[in-house]
Formats: sequence, C-alpha cells, structure tokens
Amino acid sequence: MRLILLGPPGAGKGTQAKLLVNRFAIPQVSTGDMLRAAVKAGTRLGQEAKRYMDQGALVPDAVIIGLVRERLRQPDCAGGYILDGFPRTVAQAEALEKTLAALHASLDHVVSLEVPTEDLVLRIAGRRTCKNCGAMYHVRFSPSQTDGRCDACGGPTYQRDDDHEETVRRRLGVYAEQTTPLISFYEARGLLRRVPGTGEIAEISQRISAALGA
Ligand SMILES: [Zn+2]
Repeated sequence: MRLILLGPPGAGKGTQAKLLVNRFAIPQVSTGDMLRAAVKAGTRLGQEAKRYMDQGALVPDAVIIGLVRERLRQPDCAGGYILDGFPRTVAQAEALEKTLAALHASLDHVVSLEVPTEDLVLRIAGRRTCKNCGAMYHVRFSPSQTDGRCDACGGPTYQRDDDHEETVRRRLGVYAEQTTPLISFYEARGLLRRVPGTGEIAEISQRISAALGA
C-alpha cells in the first residue's frame, strides 16, 4: 500500500500515520526524518542538504526528490509506505510520479485529513507546554490540575509562539495555499480520499481504513 497523507497542522496526521504504520506494517517516510538521517550519515545528498540548512535556506526540490528516490528504493519500502510531508507542491508531485514510474510503481491512495479551520485554531491555540519538562496540556481538552502549573513537575506552563492564534491562522493559510493545487492534482488522478478528521482518534482511523478499502 503506497500512501500519501495530507493534513493541516493540528489535524492529527502524526497520530493517524502511526496507526497506519502498525496496521499495514509499512514505514512512514517523512522528509524531515530523511533529511536528518542523510545529514547524519554524510551521504552526498546529505552533505548537499546540510549546506543549505547551515545557511538557514530551504533545501531545494532536486535534493529532496533525490533523497525520496533513495529512500523508496530501500528494502523496507518494498511492501509500501506512507509519505508524510512530501510532496508539498505540484512540482514535487510530478517528480514523485516520474520517480515511481521509474521504479514501476504507483500510488494507491492520497488521504486528505480534513478539519474545519476553527477546530484547528481551537486545538492548537489551547495547547500549553511545561517550560521545565515539556509536558503538554490543553486548556479545554486536557487541562493541568492547577491553571498554569505542570501536573508532572510543578513547573510553569506557557503557550509556545507557534501556538498563538495569529500564528496558527497564518500557518493554516500558508498550508491551504500550498496544498489546494496538490489536492486538485490528485483528485484529477482519482487518487484523493477526503476523510473528516474530527471526532475520536479510533473513529477517524476507521474512516481512513474505510477510505482505503481495507
Ligand atoms: Zn513539567
């Protein structure tokens, strides 16, 4: 089963990816992990990627695509995989299509986890993090016993910059702008499976399985 998992920040993509990994015994291929691994291993592409990252620049598509190509050739990907964080653009999707064709493979499904913007804002902007130990809380869904104090270590909890409402709305806007053309791209190929990402984790997981026909 070769899958792409798409979803905005806060949609629970990470949680659902883990469940799919267990259910289908296929690896999750994340570009972030791949970049870190390649840099650490000092491969040619890793060294190239590091040059951009050291300058604080975006790693160019050609390098990312090269890494994905290498990764998909690994034996653990023979039975399928879940692509996470790639492709982000139509240009990357087209490059992926070429790469897969060269490997005599094709995608089975592109799952788009869909959550209304206001729900995402509520989920993310309510997060609180402990300054000491990193424990996570949510003002509404899993508050700490004492407001502003961590249950685990008593340290102060705070809202990360990334979780402020304005920042969240900006990130969601950027995501929508980037992803809308990608959604159309896969819809035109009959690969898109829209799955509502609201409700319980198990419920969402069942919806995904149903969308995959599994
Ligand atoms: Zn703590």
